[in-house]
Amino acid sequence: MAHHHSKLAIVGSGPAGYTAAIYAARALLEPMMISGFQPGGQLMITTDVENYPGFADVIQGPWLMEQMRLQAEHVGTRMVSDHITKVDLSRRPFRLEGDSGDSYTADALIIATGAQAKWLGIPSEAKFQGFGVSACATCDGFFFRGKDVVVVGGGNTAVEEALYLSHLAKSVTLVHRRDSLRSEKILQDRLFRQANVQVVWDSAIEEICGTENPSSVTHVRLKNVKSGTLSEVKTDGVFIAIGHKPSTELFDGQLDMKGGGYLRTAPGSTATNIPGVFAAFSEPGDPRECMYSNPVASNDDGPRPDLERAA
Ligand code: NAP
Repeated sequence: MAHHHSKLAIVGSGPAGYTAAIYAARALLEPMMISGFQPGGQLMITTDVENYPGFADVIQGPWLMEQMRLQAEHVGTRMVSDHITKVDLSRRPFRLEGDSGDSYTADALIIATGAQAKWLGIPSEAKFQGFGVSACATCDGFFFRGKDVVVVGGGNTAVEEALYLSHLAKSVTLVHRRDSLRSEKILQDRLFRQANVQVVWDSAIEEICGTENPSSVTHVRLKNVKSGTLSEVKTDGVFIAIGHKPSTELFDGQLDMKGGGYLRTAPGSTATNIPGVFAAFSEPGDPRECMYSNPVASNDDGPRPDLERAA
């Protein structure tokens, strides 16, 4: 059981974490990044990435994250592979404990633990993830141009995903488990004006069906939750848009949070209510209401804690 101290610890290793690490290392803050057991964040479960500036050809999500890791290391970030299970932010230096049994102290802390897309949890969803099932229309919508897609959910995320896809896909079928949407009315108006969008109410996805070799989605089996009637909708892709869950349980009771577990930060800032603790996130609904959940937005947020700390 070793003990490690650093001027700055960064917990989490998605694009926001790596960007923070690169800026911090170049500011000679000697950051230590504690990357968790699945380094790289949500881009590790994305295949083709076409919207990251600087690459004329399609790149792979895992490759992009590997490059970010190498870049962060190259400029002087110390990488630690551990899963933080406990934090004590009540005094400085802040104390962290890892699953490995190692302990860590840091004069400042950047939280870049990101958020996880919520999934339906049915086996066929996992089977086709990355092969027709996605939780990010801005990441994967382009691959469904001129095709039929299904979007699941009834909140702002689902309606925005459906609207985005309606400009690319031949048809969009929004499947919602109730008979009304919870999204803002202005978004609903826009959605209902789209000629290629239809809504299937009161329905849940029973199964996502498709082929193997090559793995691709062909249709979904729906169940009307009121009548129990089963039906099928032909589709090439399924976008799950039932919300995100920020990975912030570790900080429960220590940092101010908004509803849903999103960390509360000072307006226009990454500073949390504890001096020296910063939050770098770029998920929908995050404290700065970031509009775009993608690595470019995270790259914008990532350096801010370093700049604020240095200021
Ligand atoms: P949300 O508001 O919690 O909506 C989630 C939707 O998914 C709900 O319609 C819910 O159904 C449905 N759902 C949840 N679990 C499900 C399941 N297991 N099976 C089927 N459907 C399920 O989440 P969100 O849309 O991601 O929005 C989160 C927050 O971010 C909100 O505050 C939202 O306003 C904000 N946001 C804002 C913008 C914007 O301002 N442009 C964009 C995106 C998100 P029920 O309705 O039946 O509960």
